[in-house]
Amino acid sequence: MTDAAGPRAAHLPGFATRAIHAGQEPDPLTGAVVVPIYQTSTFAQDVVGETRAGYDYSRAGNPTRTALEQAMAALEGGRSGFAFASGMAAADTYIRAVLRPGDHLILPDDAYGGTFRLIDKICVPWGLTYSTVPLGDLDAVRAAMRPATRVIWCETPTNPLLNIADIAGLAEIAHGTGAQLVVDNTFASPYLQQPISLGADVVLHSTTKYVGGHSDVVGGALVTDRADLAEALAFHNKSMGAVAGPFDSWLTLRGLKTLAVRMDRHCDNAERVVELLAGHPRVSRVYYPGLPGHPGHQVAARQMRRFGGMVSFSVRDGQEEALKVCRRTQLFTLGESLGGVESLIEHPGLMTHASVAGSALQVPDDLIRLSVGIEDADDLLADLRDALD
Ligand code: PLP
Repeated sequence: MTDAAGPRAAHLPGFATRAIHAGQEPDPLTGAVVVPIYQTSTFAQDVVGETRAGYDYSRAGNPTRTALEQAMAALEGGRSGFAFASGMAAADTYIRAVLRPGDHLILPDDAYGGTFRLIDKICVPWGLTYSTVPLGDLDAVRAAMRPATRVIWCETPTNPLLNIADIAGLAEIAHGTGAQLVVDNTFASPYLQQPISLGADVVLHSTTKYVGGHSDVVGGALVTDRADLAEALAFHNKSMGAVAGPFDSWLTLRGLKTLAVRMDRHCDNAERVVELLAGHPRVSRVYYPGLPGHPGHQVAARQMRRFGGMVSFSVRDGQEEALKVCRRTQLFTLGESLGGVESLIEHPGLMTHASVAGSALQVPDDLIRLSVGIEDADDLLADLRDALD
């Protein structure tokens, strides 16, 4: 566990400043400007039980991981951050820390497939129950709350349909019955949206995506502002051991420094792509929270700085046509994942969301998802035009 000094300082530095400096003081020993990779499993003690800087074993804590945890906490506006080996490890650790067999949780009806699989295939046999609900509909969420509901699990925007949920509204519902709100902020990144300031108890990230930003590392993070939760998460992080390694922490931290500039460019390029797709005769529907007709646009405009770099769309001629488009692009690489500098294209039905096929969370088979990168926008538009024509 790591406490962040940033958000509580008298003058709160801006986002880009925090991304570069929070938790990242020059190395006290050598003055190295970049936090070193402390690639060590253990730390020498001078006297039994007396550590030199609070570190004894890298599963419990490592200075490179600490730097990342402090930076994440500062960017999300929470006191405590935790870094994990993957986004799913973060999700699993949160669930074990907070939920017990017999508890119930509410999931978005288009949750990320891996989250759904974790809960449906691993947590249900362990004793949890869940309901899937369209989180954009607060009345539906209220109606789904049960006495055993301990957690509302929110993604906004969602993967891959980019549905929007009202974070403040969900926090009010959760807290009304003593439940918690966890927000998976992977798609927005802390640059575009800070759920803790809207009432969330915990923020979750797959740092594999925008936070790392270069498709070269898998990782996850949790941030909370609640001392009781921080204690439980610290205990489970150390005890379950799905922690981020020093080199992965360093790579993620290196990516994090440029998050603000990358996100602005992702958003600029996504807006150009949306404009092209919205006017294209082969496209039947575009999913992007920045479109005034997108359900939840008003809520997104209220709680997000901009609308992000993810765009999904349906083609008129069904699955075969969708698969052809995925095959034809040259710059948009066919692949899973998202949030890196390079543009990616994928077919959620057969790729990232294959695990929800046949369930209530199944996605349309004519759907294509784009992770719009930060290349020159004109080149991206030309590539999409060629693939669609
Ligand atoms: N949450 C969302 C919204 C995701 O898209 C993903 C992965 O795609 C995850 C969580 C899981 O993260 P990871 O792949 O780092 O385990």
